[in-house]
Amino acid sequence: PCTDFDKAYFHSYAHVGIHEEMIKDRVRTETYKAAVMQHQSFIEGKVVMDVGCGTGILSIFCAQAGAKRVYAVDASDIAVQANEVVKANNLAERVIVLHGRVEDVEIDEEVDVIISEWMGYMLLYESMLGSVITARDRWLKRGGLILPCNATLYMAPITHPDRYNDSIGFWRNVYGIDMSAMLQLAKQCAFEEPCVETITGENVMTWPHVVKHVDCYTIQLHELESVSTRYKFQSMMRAPLHGFAFWFDVEFSGPANSPTNNHTQSLLIGTSNNNPVDGIPRKKRSNPNEALVLSTAPEDPPTHWQQTLVYFYDPIELEQDQIIEGSLTLSQSKENRRFMNILLEYSSGGRSYVKESVMR
Ligand code: SAH
Repeated sequence: PCTDFDKAYFHSYAHVGIHEEMIKDRVRTETYKAAVMQHQSFIEGKVVMDVGCGTGILSIFCAQAGAKRVYAVDASDIAVQANEVVKANNLAERVIVLHGRVEDVEIDEEVDVIISEWMGYMLLYESMLGSVITARDRWLKRGGLILPCNATLYMAPITHPDRYNDSIGFWRNVYGIDMSAMLQLAKQCAFEEPCVETITGENVMTWPHVVKHVDCYTIQLHELESVSTRYKFQSMMRAPLHGFAFWFDVEFSGPANSPTNNHTQSLLIGTSNNNPVDGIPRKKRSNPNEALVLSTAPEDPPTHWQQTLVYFYDPIELEQDQIIEGSLTLSQSKENRRFMNILLEYSSGGRSYVKESVMR
């Protein structure tokens, strides 16, 4: 059923600004375009579905790559503009815009390719991946192609003294006045919810941990209701730990058993893990068949997703090599499945902490 929350969600995509932001994100849009071109020989003459077409940009890339027919589906009113854009580019014969939810629309054939830009902040926020799964199970042919084919969510401990002092430390001395009485409120207001911000590789204290790897061909809806992981980090530096950063990447390699995809398995993260504690050596990740990767990592060029930061109310002073470990659960909120509950347990130096937050 389409809830009021869904209506509000689709309404938010009827504004031009959100599409402008996504399309101007060149890392995002150019990687999708390159992925379509890389798979041109597969797409040529085939039937494609674009799950959540927005302005129609990915559908048009696919039509330009020679798709026989593209179903461009969007439940937001932006579909009206997508239809106009398609007509103005003389593609109305091949690109069919369907204004409705992927869960509700009907088409009377199977598709060879599903393309979608479904990733939210922290990968899973917005819960749009479920709609890609629905489309896959309704229409994708055996041996069909899904772009992107997999996604990985990472986390890592971070130090960010400038950010902390800017929001919190600042209150200790305000024009010579001791405003420390403001500290509690300032911490609550600044750090209760996750923050979408850009950090750099220098803020990251050690190798990341894989929170969740999603194979778009096999992932099931129920796996997304709640994602849990245990982590153990060993700080590579002596610095205050301010919280955890989250980021993701997605890959665009060919379908299993196709000639364009020889070595997908060897791309899976963690097979050559030479870090003694956790995570993977970021710079050492190799990509034997050069699958295209869209990365939102702190050390890579920035995207509109930035990184998602979960800050602690109070930093923990870490020594070099000190261990920080615990668990994380991300779950769809009961009140609105597009919101995400974040339960973070962490301990270090013999003390344990819990932080719960909601991304709305
Ligand atoms: N493909 C476009 C837009 C991506 S944003 C681009 O790359 O620029 C995601 C879009 O998916 C939004 O326009 C949103 O309205 C749409 N969407 C999300 N869930 C959907 C669903 N279940 N059915 C149809 N459209 C959906």
